[in-house]
Amino acid sequence: MRLDVISLAPEAFSPLAGLGVIGRAFAAGIAELHCHNPREYALDRYRKVDDEPYGGGAGMVLKPEPIYAAFEAIPVAEPRRVLLMSPQGQPLRQADLQRWASTYSQLVFLCGHYEGFDERIRPLADEEVSIGDFVLTGGELPAMVIINGVVRLLKGTVGTAASLEEESHSSLLLEHPHYTRPANFRGQEVPEVLRSGDHGAIARWRADQQQQRTQNRRPDLYAKWLDREKDMGQG
Ligand code: SAM
Repeated sequence: MRLDVISLAPEAFSPLAGLGVIGRAFAAGIAELHCHNPREYALDRYRKVDDEPYGGGAGMVLKPEPIYAAFEAIPVAEPRRVLLMSPQGQPLRQADLQRWASTYSQLVFLCGHYEGFDERIRPLADEEVSIGDFVLTGGELPAMVIINGVVRLLKGTVGTAASLEEESHSSLLLEHPHYTRPANFRGQEVPEVLRSGDHGAIARWRADQQQQRTQNRRPDLYAKWLDREKDMGQG
């Protein structure tokens, strides 16, 4: 998959190369990352990328011309999706990461700064994405969150497909607890059933733990899961 990022801080993306399985996916050519700095496409001799807002107000606004020039210089690999990072966008979900990883050959990320984008930049994007109801200084961390979440879903990045299927948010239930050696750590015992070798009992315990965890931590997800179970029972 080809990933293109338009950002005033392209150096922010270099740590991705050292990020365990994600770094190895880049090294193996499963994904390739290209950063483009709109400052290099600025028209004036001061390389100005921002300006004061029409109508007044605090902060500076990203000018459209350098962003469009940087965008239009990017080679197109179809099918592609253009994602604009914005706290006003749709909240990011695991289902979005799965959709982008399985549908597209190229993702383009538009990272904002300052007060944000001139409104005329928005039509470049197919989707506006928010990573949560809070405001960061720039779109780099949100883009890196998405790149991490998409690249780990690409074929060849994470060892087994089963580990992706069972994890939290791939269905509506959160994942069950995990334990490794030692069997007793500072008085905390690994549940007996996990050491029993009885695979049926282990599967039942894990399913039960998933439901309990989801009910306690995320009643909103649990209610959706119950509804879906009810629908499936009727169907
Ligand atoms: N004034 C803007 C507003 O109220 O919507 C916020 C601008 S923010 C300081 C600068 C840039 O950071 C945004 O254009 C966006 O690219 C990025 N950003 C900040 N918070 C974000 C979030 N929660 N999700 C995605 N992008 C975010």
